[in-house]
Amino acid sequence: MLGSLNKIYNVGIYIRLSREDDDKALESESITNQKSLLLQYVKENNLRVYDIYIDDGYSGTNFDRPDFNRLLNDIELGRVNMVITKDMSRLGRDYIGTGNLIEKYFPEHNVRYIAVTDNIDTCLDNSNNDIAPFKAIMNDMYAKDISKKIKSSLRAKQKEGKWVGGRTPFGYDQDPNDKNHLVINEEQALVVKRIFDMCLEGLSFFKIAKQLTNEGVKTPAGYYSFEWKSNYNLKYGEWHSKTIRDILTNRMYIGDMVQNRRSKVNYKVKKVIKNNPKDYIIVENTHEAIIDKETFYEVQKRIPKNVGRNEKKENHLLDGLLYCGDCGHRISIQSRRKKDNRCYTICNYYRTYMKQRLCTTHSNNYDELEKVIIKSLTNMCLSYINKDKVRNNVLNNLTEDNEFNNKKELEILINDIKQINDNLDIIYIDKLNKKITEEQFERVKIKLERELNIKQKRYNELNNSINDNINEESKNKLIIEYINKFLSMKKPSRELIINLIDRIEIFEDKNINIKVTFNDNSV
Ligand SMILES: [Zn+2]
Repeated sequence: MLGSLNKIYNVGIYIRLSREDDDKALESESITNQKSLLLQYVKENNLRVYDIYIDDGYSGTNFDRPDFNRLLNDIELGRVNMVITKDMSRLGRDYIGTGNLIEKYFPEHNVRYIAVTDNIDTCLDNSNNDIAPFKAIMNDMYAKDISKKIKSSLRAKQKEGKWVGGRTPFGYDQDPNDKNHLVINEEQALVVKRIFDMCLEGLSFFKIAKQLTNEGVKTPAGYYSFEWKSNYNLKYGEWHSKTIRDILTNRMYIGDMVQNRRSKVNYKVKKVIKNNPKDYIIVENTHEAIIDKETFYEVQKRIPKNVGRNEKKENHLLDGLLYCGDCGHRISIQSRRKKDNRCYTICNYYRTYMKQRLCTTHSNNYDELEKVIIKSLTNMCLSYINKDKVRNNVLNNLTEDNEFNNKKELEILINDIKQINDNLDIIYIDKLNKKITEEQFERVKIKLERELNIKQKRYNELNNSINDNINEESKNKLIIEYINKFLSMKKPSRELIINLIDRIEIFEDKNINIKVTFNDNSV
């Protein structure tokens, strides 16, 4: 019993509730709860309460709180020689201030301090008082405090699109003039570009990695390690599929800042976890891109979702293009069976929730399936080419005429617009020279501007449509090129297949729906 000690204690109960407390939502922190807990404690220990000091709505990060100051005043006047709080953080959240209070101020004023739920008692009568728990809590508060402060300032910077990571992504360096900005590392950027090109050529991660390794291209680990000089080839010379995948999927390369991908579990545990992509902090166009957006998103389409499980697995022509027609999830291709050298497709949704029977197997002999699909694709291509010929014959004269007319009109418009602008200049000067009145000027100006507006609009319209036509045409030319190449090949390459097929839906009843990248009913 505390009360049985010889000294007579006059207790100051201190209660604080902060508006911005993390635990403000907790009922246990409420004024009433703190008060009843502390009064109970005082009663159980036969202590005499001098007064209760309550700061409601004051932050613990500074000591400028009215009732806290009243408490200090009473301590200095000798009215209070014991302070009790629920826990140490009630006293303050600023560890330096709190530490000073407990380690210096209270002892100097012969005040005994108790934090009930933290089991802290700076009992002055007991010289063996173990301050270990107190230290532990102080350290903890300190770490929490600092980690919170660092975290929130990091977050703020990340939200501004400032680079705050440690190691820069492969292909970039920290700007020597601004450590929160990234600049291209030309040597590494060339490798990044090459990896994207290789992927577009249809090479698998594994093959890309192998080729780079064989050529002795320095790996990201090779650049970042200080040891690479001594045993570079041994430890850091080898490219891995995962590195290739990480590079190909990194949005940093299109100039967007992607941060907060990983975070520490908390300030106590060093362990780092991967964050959910929805928690990434992304700011667009913060640095120079290495890869243009079109290439990047094209590559994303080609990245099979189930790669990585087995790096050396067979590279199937249709990998990543197969979808379940019934449930919409991906269909993957299983490894080849040893006994009959066959491999089968399976709906991922079925495989994951086999017991719940959320979908059905969608099992097909892959090699057969591939044959069927290539055959249908061939037919689709042939019919597209035929239609294209017919369409071209019909439309050619028409579009040529049309195009000629459009270009002519555009020329006239450009001329007109220039004329109107010149006239505007003239009347303005006339006004300045008082050749025409303000009124006359306004009237003509409004008329000219209205005219200009109309012409400008028509110009934009025409220009856009001409550009659209050009784009459409070059796109179609490319498709025709792909199709001709595909039709001439005995075994099509994965690159061609990806350029021609968007997705393939496979139904349990063996129906197949091929969605091609070209519009096959566009006549
Ligand atoms: Zn399914």
